[in-house]
Amino acid sequence: MESKKRLYIGLLAGSLLFILILTGLVWFLVINRDIILSQIILIVLVALAVILFLILGISILAIVIMIIRSKTIPSLENITFLANELLFPLTLFIGKILGIRKEKILSSYIAVNNYLIRAKDAYIPSSKIMILLPHCLQDSDCKIKITNDINNCKNCGKCKIGELKELAIKYNADIRVVTGGTLARKHITDTRPEGVVAVACERDLSVGIHDTGLLPVIGVLNCRPNGPCYNTDVNITEVENAIITLSKGGILH
Ligand code: SF4
Repeated sequence: MESKKRLYIGLLAGSLLFILILTGLVWFLVINRDIILSQIILIVLVALAVILFLILGISILAIVIMIIRSKTIPSLENITFLANELLFPLTLFIGKILGIRKEKILSSYIAVNNYLIRAKDAYIPSSKIMILLPHCLQDSDCKIKITNDINNCKNCGKCKIGELKELAIKYNADIRVVTGGTLARKHITDTRPEGVVAVACERDLSVGIHDTGLLPVIGVLNCRPNGPCYNTDVNITEVENAIITLSKGGILH
């Protein structure tokens, strides 16, 4: 087996072994709980589980309170981020068991994220905002290369790229067209924006929001009248509202 595949298979086997050892350890401690050391380790394990449960519980409660108050609680932002990190794969798994469509869960995740970003008091100069667009917004017959520089677009009106370019000029925001998450991450790493307005489908947006950590990202879902990844569309007003939300209405040059 080549080393590329060996790594993943090795990690899978390692994870299974870890669960097996942990289960074996708990079982051993439980059946030998008359030994003092077993009792101490059991208490430590239970205490750690309770602390983790409390942290996750508090962070979910914090998210609900932030939504109700329409205001974030800055001191709790880090643990809400932690809860999202830890519980995100689990929510998808539970959703799958309950037969809820993945897109529906991801769309809800994006809506909660957007709401929490709106509730923040942060004011980001519009010149520090990056607008990230998927390549599939470009008309498929257009041969102009816009991933290197969106200014190559002639604004012919066949797709929304031209209007989005004008929007970026209006707000003096940075705007990039990307072919995938890798290029999006590269632009963010190179340019270090203070906020991002990202247009994409549910999957790409949720992964992107997840990957960018604490960087405020407002996700705008694209429309797919021709199926996924082909001649997609977006509501310009929604993109503009996202810029206004991040910059609190201010156009700063
Ligand atoms: S608006 Fe720009 S990107 Fe879209 S088809 Fe016209 S020239 Fe090409």
